[in-house]
Amino acid sequence: MRKELFLIGAVAIAAAVWAFTPSAGRGAPLPASAYEVNDSHFHLTNYVQEGTNINEFLKIMGTKVGRVALFGIPLQQQWSYGNTGDFAPTYYLQSDAPLYYYSFTDAFIAKAYQSLSPAEQARFDPMITGFNPTDMYAADHIRRVLTTFPRVFSGIGEFTIHKEFVSSKIAGETASLTNRALDRLLDFAGEVGLVALIHNDIDAPFPKPGQEPYQVLQLRDLIERHPKTTIIWAHMGLGRIVRPLHDQLGIIDRALSNPALSNLYIDLSWDETAKYIVATQQTIAATAELISRHPTRFLFGTDEVAPSNQAGYLKVYELYEPLFARLTPSVSEQVRKANYLRLFDEARRRVRAWERANINSSN
Ligand SMILES: [Zn+2]
Repeated sequence: MRKELFLIGAVAIAAAVWAFTPSAGRGAPLPASAYEVNDSHFHLTNYVQEGTNINEFLKIMGTKVGRVALFGIPLQQQWSYGNTGDFAPTYYLQSDAPLYYYSFTDAFIAKAYQSLSPAEQARFDPMITGFNPTDMYAADHIRRVLTTFPRVFSGIGEFTIHKEFVSSKIAGETASLTNRALDRLLDFAGEVGLVALIHNDIDAPFPKPGQEPYQVLQLRDLIERHPKTTIIWAHMGLGRIVRPLHDQLGIIDRALSNPALSNLYIDLSWDETAKYIVATQQTIAATAELISRHPTRFLFGTDEVAPSNQAGYLKVYELYEPLFARLTPSVSEQVRKANYLRLFDEARRRVRAWERANINSSN
């Protein structure tokens, strides 16, 4: 009798579990509404191309993070024996040796993605990053990656033009927002439907009083020149020591109100960005007000690099808690999830269509 009851109970439990895992399969995603947040900015690997195993990362995402824009880092820190001897640097601030563009990152990310089940793949939007944005051939690299790894990528980036400490360390020509190579790159991204995620500091690290923030003016012109390309500006233009311009929120407000910049989106990623936004009750309130005026234009991102556990991965998400608390539930939901889904679902659809039309099956 007791055994029968136990069996009935076990069957009931199995049926209930089955009901909550329809179509099952390895790593079947829960409905989008079940997750708390999507991450528009994530590096699986670090500055020496080492990182978290993607299966481990799926466990770290757990039931908290639904979708992730996935990329490596386009730059490799050289281990120069002459500079650091036996000390092997893993971060760009640990050595004076140059960084160089490391294209293999795209193959590495594509292979990691392809190792997953279709249900697991559905949770990622891989991005192409391994190109040199000063090279007129950069667009050709992107075309070659799409051809070699079709049905994988949704965007390009995060790639860097002006970045404190980094731009001046990169071997070869210095990147610039006025370089025609960048125009060619963004034209191609627009043609294919690839989202472009750009890191560009809003200002110099230590500007003289009254110094013209040429970066922000050049960035505006660049975005205006590419109206068909969806551009996400990483970190609101902030950095470790690139501090908010006096009129930072006003600049962003005017940019997002400008119909000529309707292709511009802002990502809130990086703990260095969060540190400015959640600094005081006033900064939180002012940012919440800005986001509420443009609720479709902001995306949450972590900018974590190769995390080893969920607490580390979601540190930035926790930091933003007071900001999310100041938004209405519907605006908070847009920033955390809906804006990501709209932009990246559209990118997936367009890039797959471009691939079908432009890659012949013999490739
Ligand atoms: Zn990043």
